[in-house]
Amino acid sequence: MKIKFWGVRGSIPSPGYQTVRYGGNTTCIEVRLDDNTLIILDAGTGIFPLSQTLPPEFPLSCHILNTHTHWDHIQGLPFFIPLFVPGNQVHIYGADDPISHNGIHEILTTQLQYRFFPIREVELKSDIHYQSLTESNSIQIGDATVTAIMMNHPVINFGYRIDCHGKSMFFTGDHEPPYNIYKPDDEEYTEYQSIIENKHRHLIETIQGVDVMIADCSYTPEEYPNKQGWGHGTYDACIKLAKQAKVGSLYCTHHEPTRSDDALEKVFSEAMQRNPRKENDPKYYLAQEGLEICW
Ligand SMILES: [Zn+2]
Ligand SMILES: [Zn+2]
Repeated sequence: MKIKFWGVRGSIPSPGYQTVRYGGNTTCIEVRLDDNTLIILDAGTGIFPLSQTLPPEFPLSCHILNTHTHWDHIQGLPFFIPLFVPGNQVHIYGADDPISHNGIHEILTTQLQYRFFPIREVELKSDIHYQSLTESNSIQIGDATVTAIMMNHPVINFGYRIDCHGKSMFFTGDHEPPYNIYKPDDEEYTEYQSIIENKHRHLIETIQGVDVMIADCSYTPEEYPNKQGWGHGTYDACIKLAKQAKVGSLYCTHHEPTRSDDALEKVFSEAMQRNPRKENDPKYYLAQEGLEICW
C-alpha cells in the first residue's frame, strides 16, 4: 500500500512563503493498492495537482471517497482533470445528508451551478458513478475492503478504514471527540455519557491495529476551548485515540490555516513533550504535502 499527501491544510487553502514546507492545499490523500488501484480520500484543492499527474494513466478508473461535503474537502473536485476526458471511470462515494436529504450523487450538480462555475455538468465527459455509503457497511474496491464509520462533525462525516492484503489504514476526515453537552447534575447527563462512551468504543474497535492512522489534529489544548463544537480535535486527543487503538503510526493533519510552518512544528513538538513516546506506542508525524508512505 502507498499513501501520498496532496493536501494537509484545514478549512481554507493557505499558500504562501510561510506554509511552503508543509503545503497550503486542503485535504486530499492518494492511496495506491499493490496493483496500483487508485483510491482518493477527499477532493480538497490538493486533488488538482494530483490530477495533473494522471493523464499518462488514461483511460483511468479511480475511486474518490468523500468524508463530508464541507468546502475544504470538495473544492478541487470540479478541477479533477479525469472528469473531462472520455473513457475515464470516476467512482464517487460518500454519505447522503440526512438533514438536507441531498445525496452524494448531487455533489457535482451543486458545485457546478452556473452561478459558481463556468463549466456545465453535461460537459464532464467521463463516466461518473455515485455510491451512497452507510455506516459500518463495508464495500469492496479492487482487492481492498473499505469500511465507513460515522465521526463527530457538524455535518455527517465518515471516517474510512481501508484493508488490503494484511495492510491497513484509517482516515478520520474531520472529527471532534464527542463531549457531554449536559451538566453532571442534569437528568440527561448519564444517558448521554453512555452514548458517547459506546461510540468511542466502537471507534476504537474500527480503527484497531491499523498500520497508519491519519487524523484531524487541528488544535492545541489551549486553543480548543474557544473552538469547541466547531468539529475538530486536538493533537492530544488524537494521540490518545491512536494509543488506545494500538495503531502503528499517527499522521496529524488538517493543519490550521493560520499556522506557519514554524508555528506548526512548534505546536507539534510541544504535543510530543506532553505525550512522550514509550516503547510500543505509535510513531507520530506531521502530514506534509508531497510526503509518501510505502509499506
Ligand atoms: Zn475540514
Ligand atoms: Zn468539515
